[in-house]
Amino acid sequence: MKIRIFLTAALVAIALFLAACGDPKVVVVVATPTPAPVPAATATAQTQPTSTPEPQPTSTLELIPTLKPDRSYTSLSSYSRTPEGSCSQDFSSAKQIDAIQYLELLGDGLEDVRNRDTYFYESSSGGLARNGPTATWIFEMGIEVAIKWAPESFLSVRHPYRDHDVAWQDYVDYHASLCDAYEGRGTLRPVVIHLDKLLWGETGNGWPGHALLWKPFEYIDTGPNVVEAPSPEGLEHYTKYISGAGVIIVGGADVPDEAFLAAREAIIFMTSARPEFREILKAQQTRISLFASGDTSVLPEYSTENEPGGFAMGMTDASMTAAAEWLCYPGNWDRGGNPVIHELVHTINHIVFEELNEIYFYERIYVLAQNAIDTGLLAPFEQHLEPGEEQDNSHLVGEYWAMAVEGYIMDRSGFKDSHDTRDWIQENDPLLYDLITRYFPTEPWTYCPGVEDHLDQ
Ligand SMILES: [Zn+2]
Repeated sequence: MKIRIFLTAALVAIALFLAACGDPKVVVVVATPTPAPVPAATATAQTQPTSTPEPQPTSTLELIPTLKPDRSYTSLSSYSRTPEGSCSQDFSSAKQIDAIQYLELLGDGLEDVRNRDTYFYESSSGGLARNGPTATWIFEMGIEVAIKWAPESFLSVRHPYRDHDVAWQDYVDYHASLCDAYEGRGTLRPVVIHLDKLLWGETGNGWPGHALLWKPFEYIDTGPNVVEAPSPEGLEHYTKYISGAGVIIVGGADVPDEAFLAAREAIIFMTSARPEFREILKAQQTRISLFASGDTSVLPEYSTENEPGGFAMGMTDASMTAAAEWLCYPGNWDRGGNPVIHELVHTINHIVFEELNEIYFYERIYVLAQNAIDTGLLAPFEQHLEPGEEQDNSHLVGEYWAMAVEGYIMDRSGFKDSHDTRDWIQENDPLLYDLITRYFPTEPWTYCPGVEDHLDQ
């Protein structure tokens, strides 16, 4: 079993102080200066019981039913993690503590993980590009807490920070998903989703596309055929459906079938060198939401979001998004970037690399990005930013990988401002080429066949 939470009380004090400032952008926890492992319980000393709590004999214990865990996020037919241990053995000596204290331990642990800057990039103007195997770190934090602590039984408690009631079932669901992952039956996505529910309540972290708010689509093997979408409640907007490479693609009636077929072909090619990625994408319920025109606000999950091209899916999100009219297919000979390819690259980072704890990638990518900026390989590019936000090096660093892989996959000269063909990348940015080909295929592939006849139009 590998638990890697190395924090000193001093670092936690800094993190807590900065977190208390209320602006997550200024939370920069300095790199861990000591290799000595300090148990999480010590690291979060302020929330520990001042004396060792005795398990209190309480009559309420008998009143609490043994609830069945909700496994709606764990339909894992084809992928499982490597078992790390047994919950019944490894968690058996956990001390019972007050439920509020237990929630505070988890909340502080999550805060620490979210701000862990091991693989962050900070620009000279303070902009942050975040990176790292966050889901793996959350899982490790959860295991470390579970080995030492368990909440005393409760029916319902008021959350110490958030304005919501926590039900015993929320704890049961979280704990079951933690054990599923620990014992090799489940992935990390259910762990982080259920932890969000435990700590934040029914609506998760406030993001309208949080997976807690939207039921997952069933995965149906469609082959290269667009079929009627088996849309869950609230997602009736989606009437068209196709699947491939473990990924579900849905869209409304106004998205042309050709856009679905082109998107499916791209993701099948992108994952062809790493079939295991497909297993993970499927197990994690990866979905692409296509929209025909306008921006993401036409989609039911993102009615408040006005992204014109699309955005990626993170570990706790319902889906990623992409503008169908920015795709290239017969009848829509679009020359330029492809948001399905681009956002799937980001999505693989979150959904696959965070699951696999792909340190090899995290250690390299921002170093390569900095080098590409310093040597002029990566020029500023068009990017949709929030009003008032200006592009700085943190944006370039954060986009470098997805932009370069997008160019590598399309391999069409002039479709990107830099890194537009495999040959160019191999010649000008060879270490990046090595990293790309660690994950993506080297076989020839023709992106958008026929577009070459329409480039002047
Ligand atoms: Zn991007």
